[in-house]
Amino acid sequence: MKTIIEPFKIKSVEPIRFTSKEERIKILKKAGCNPFLIHADDVLIDLLTDSGTSAMSAKQWAGIMEGDESYAGSRSFYRFEEIVKKITGLEFIIPTHQGRAAEKILFFNVGGAGKFIPNNTHFDTTRANIEFTGAEAVDLLNETGKKPEVKADFKGDMDVEKLEAFIKEKGAENIPLCMLTITNNSGGGQPVSMKNIREVKAVCKKYGIPFFLDACRFAENAYFIKKREKGYENKSVLQIAQEMFSYADGATMSAKKDALVNIGGFLAMNDPDLALKCRNLLIVTEGFPTYGGLAGRDLEAVAQGLEEVLDEHYLQYRIRSVEYLGEKLVAAGIPIIEPPGGHAIYLDAKRFLPDIPPEQFPGQSIVCQLYIEGGIRAVEIGSVMFGKYDKSGKLIPPPMELVRLAIPRRVYTQSHIDYVIEVIIEVFKNKNSMKGYKIIYEAPMLRHFTAKFEPIK
Ligand SMILES: *Cc1c(COP(=O)(O)O)cnc(C)c1O
Repeated sequence: MKTIIEPFKIKSVEPIRFTSKEERIKILKKAGCNPFLIHADDVLIDLLTDSGTSAMSAKQWAGIMEGDESYAGSRSFYRFEEIVKKITGLEFIIPTHQGRAAEKILFFNVGGAGKFIPNNTHFDTTRANIEFTGAEAVDLLNETGKKPEVKADFKGDMDVEKLEAFIKEKGAENIPLCMLTITNNSGGGQPVSMKNIREVKAVCKKYGIPFFLDACRFAENAYFIKKREKGYENKSVLQIAQEMFSYADGATMSAKKDALVNIGGFLAMNDPDLALKCRNLLIVTEGFPTYGGLAGRDLEAVAQGLEEVLDEHYLQYRIRSVEYLGEKLVAAGIPIIEPPGGHAIYLDAKRFLPDIPPEQFPGQSIVCQLYIEGGIRAVEIGSVMFGKYDKSGKLIPPPMELVRLAIPRRVYTQSHIDYVIEVIIEVFKNKNSMKGYKIIYEAPMLRHFTAKFEPIK
């Protein structure tokens, strides 16, 4: 087979700024050793997130000019609603300014103290929005999904037996809805199988619990199903996506991922009463139901992006380019979550830095070194992002210590990725000189965004 090439040519370019290693050491120190606090202009290759960082197409930019900015009943809303309905088959489509706004509106209405929301793995904003209402966010990932070194096709699957046991234990009346995150972002960008979606739905149905998809990367998930699940090889990605959503009673979506835009999201559902409550809250916190915190032009770009993301040449290139990065790292002996996920490569910091314990944030140490060595920005997904404290103030670490290298959609070329590989190999070679970190400031919620660190002497 020939090289899988970027399925686009470049019409508009954006220069990136080179810095010296000495400069980067100073910049990082000033940012409290937290790459979230570095100016983006000081970053050479930005793999902080794939969220809102997509390159839009010429047609999306044309859509920006075409956008109808009418306050109510905008033409752009109807185009947006039509494509979302076509993909999801859901009845009520509520635009929001991003994914967490959809989560906030949903959980304000169904959450609250004494309630539980199961998921394969909650993404950090989902967890935060659930916990903010006093409800509890519960992760029921299958055991294989927790083992970074084990290769399996659908490591994002939920443990269906655990789900049923959990429902019996807590009582269906205390579980206002059950979610599946496709692909499982916090668990390594791993896909969820159609079989698992079907089984989770069946359990939910048995107990009368609504089933929602956190659908940020639905197209990437659908492509994995096409490639890996028997019976789907000859279906189109659109057909697969439609089947995935056919089991769902609702969905939240950050359009900043698989809708290939820089801002946007939606909440969708079939329950008219819940939709009414959500729209009422939307009006207070986001905007009128036909724009929901977005400009008409944004809705236009989302609609166009949702069409483009289902292009199988695009998805082939997308999934392959992430896999390429993973393959080269594995070949160099660098521990990553295998197989590679859809939108990111996750370095396994526990195996990368076995001598640095979770209390000293091995992931943060790698993130800092990648910046110093090559101006690459990555993000820690481990004890900084998900660690909690017990009553005595001791860290309760999450199961995995990871560093995420998220790949923005349609932004970097293969030579950028080759450079990233070279830098990671360099850092890995010198890992014995790396230090642990301590937190010197942290916010009470979502601390990873603003925490400050110092290397441990
Ligand atoms: C990004 C993301 C969200 C939140 O979306 P925002 O647009 O960042 O608010 C929710 N769930 C998952 C799985 C995500 O990746």
